[in-house]
Amino acid sequence: MLELVACSVCGELHSPDEIELAFKRPDAIAALSAIDREKFCKETEDLCAIWGKDDDSHRFFVRSLLPIKVVARSTPYNIGAWIEVSKEVFSRINELWDSDSQLHEPLYTGKLANEIPTRSGSLELNGHIQLTGPTTRPNFMISDTESTLFADQQLGVTEHQAAEYRK
Ligand SMILES: [Zn+2]
Repeated sequence: MLELVACSVCGELHSPDEIELAFKRPDAIAALSAIDREKFCKETEDLCAIWGKDDDSHRFFVRSLLPIKVVARSTPYNIGAWIEVSKEVFSRINELWDSDSQLHEPLYTGKLANEIPTRSGSLELNGHIQLTGPTTRPNFMISDTESTLFADQQLGVTEHQAAEYRK
């Protein structure tokens, strides 16, 4: 049982049960008008697409989790965000959606499709998607080593920093 103590940075009590940051849709879709979304997008809670003018301009997105280790916690803080992937990766993920064999898949490449408010410049950061099984969302690990989010994922954050993602 984790005891809550006043944070040494801000004095507030941070609970691991606080709601985690999550994006309902990719930024590119949220930016569209309702009419364009109706016309050009296919949206579910896990997979989205924007239909372009030709075969090469369609865009594909998969909802993922960015796990971030929090110092002194056994479970990570998960940012719920969308990843833009190629048509090939999107098709493959669709194909394996209900299959246990997705655990044997190699990593796929993708780009973060949401701007994390407190991590300026995070939109379109490169990373790797790992499928985690038919009942759980894929994990996404940032590979751009210069970014703050890369450092967050690799080194971990404090409880105070985790609470700040939603600011
Ligand atoms: Zn704090």
